[in-house]
Amino acid sequence: MCSSIRVAICGAGPSGLSQLHAFESARQKGYEIPEIICYEKQSDLGGQWNYTWRTGLDEYNEHVHSSMYFNLWTNLPKECSEYVDYTYDKHFGQSVPSYLPQNIFYDYIRGYAQQNNVCQYIQFNKSIQWINYLDEKSKFNVLIKDLKNDKIYSEEFDYVIIATGHYSTPFIPYLNGIETFPGRLLHSHDYRFAEDFQNRNVLLIGNNVSGPDIALELYKYGTKSIKISYRTKAKELKWPNEIKEVPLITKIEKNLVYFKDNSSERFDAIIYCTGYIHYFPYLDDNLRLKSSNSIYLPNLYKTIFWLDQPRLIYLGMQRATLGLNITNIQSWYARDFILGNIQLPLTKQEMEFDIKQWKIKEKNIKNIYDAFHFQKDYIIDLLNSIDYPHFNIEQVVEILFDCIKARNENILTYRDKIYTSVITNTIAKQHHTTWIKEFSQSLEDFIQK
Ligand SMILES: Cc1cc2nc3c(=O)[nH]c(=O)nc-3n(C[C@H](O)[C@H](O)[C@H](O)COP(=O)(O)OP(=O)(O)OC[C@H]3O[C@@H](n4cnc5c(N)ncnc54)[C@H](O)[C@@H]3O)c2cc1C
Repeated sequence: MCSSIRVAICGAGPSGLSQLHAFESARQKGYEIPEIICYEKQSDLGGQWNYTWRTGLDEYNEHVHSSMYFNLWTNLPKECSEYVDYTYDKHFGQSVPSYLPQNIFYDYIRGYAQQNNVCQYIQFNKSIQWINYLDEKSKFNVLIKDLKNDKIYSEEFDYVIIATGHYSTPFIPYLNGIETFPGRLLHSHDYRFAEDFQNRNVLLIGNNVSGPDIALELYKYGTKSIKISYRTKAKELKWPNEIKEVPLITKIEKNLVYFKDNSSERFDAIIYCTGYIHYFPYLDDNLRLKSSNSIYLPNLYKTIFWLDQPRLIYLGMQRATLGLNITNIQSWYARDFILGNIQLPLTKQEMEFDIKQWKIKEKNIKNIYDAFHFQKDYIIDLLNSIDYPHFNIEQVVEILFDCIKARNENILTYRDKIYTSVITNTIAKQHHTTWIKEFSQSLEDFIQK
């Protein structure tokens, strides 16, 4: 590998950090690696986990990236998101509970980045504005805005890695009469504090991931009543009396909201929990992934390599439940391709055929358990081609199953369960306080003996 090869990584969230770690670990093993620059528009690493009080635009008029809310706790046990070579034991120096507040998960990600010496490659406060491919030079032209110095400049790269996430640009459907609603109206992307809604009647639109999670948090922090409006099917979880699921909205008349079952109710606030769109305004048309939130994405070989130009690489773009592990393994795969250790199929047709096989399997996914198995198979497929440290993926899937079962049995207590690390075999510590009664997020309180 010639060091005159240049690689741009867009974003220093968990995916970008994994990619940097993959290269740095190759460098430390004696491989010659390309010149790498990671551009991050925020002033710090961590992506979504870099919580900010800001909403709307940031200090440089860039779209605020993070959708993280202050009191969020992870909704999957940490044992499903553990770096094989940077374990929770290593980071905390002791066993900690399975579910973590967002700031403590962030602390772990920071530790991973520091331990792996990847910050040297990151240029902060640099926002990618535009990327197109120069056929005549066989290079990518990347337009970068230096936010601090208010300067725009361009650079050329041989490879571009898109790691800018897909939980940042809200999807906000129109609701009949929403323009007449005089109360507080926001998307979960802009939701920060549950305390804001104490003693209010709140309507959440959408019952996928953020709707139920925000409902629980609102309940915990004293919201008077919470309704979750579902589109197709109620979750039918064992909600406390203050939380109820209601069908689709048919009409909104000021504070009064009508539902498909002919019921109606007054609300003080409406929070759209309608998810996010894949949005890459900085990519030229012929390079831009256009997809809904799906588990196997179109036009990406191995959900990584852009079909028409495989030197354009996307990381972490699928709806994933094995978050950190998936992007970590994808990054290893992408690195090995760039270093020349993996060959992709010679023709586009072969890659299309492979995608088609996965898409057929995807169609057979009927429930969340099938989705876990699908992702496990996907991971195993990638692992077969790379030299990634062994970990017991089957056991991770077992943990996921148990987590879903526990959530269905009791939504208020599932975060109190503990699991065993598949990497260190450490049993997580039982937290001293149940999740519903825990209002502290300080690291000190969290690791208290
Ligand atoms: C509310 C919420 C809760 C979640 N909870 C969990 C959980 O419990 N467990 C779990 O595993 N996952 C969870 N996730 C998923 C989460 O997105 C992933 O854990 C992880 O952050 C994805 O990493 P990423 O690097 O792919 O993307 P991101 O974390 O989104 O990072 C992308 C980075 O790209 C940067 N960027 C964006 N545009 C540009 C640009 N034009 N130029 C330069 N830089 C740019 C951003 O500033 C950001 O730093 C949650 C997500 C949300 C929104």
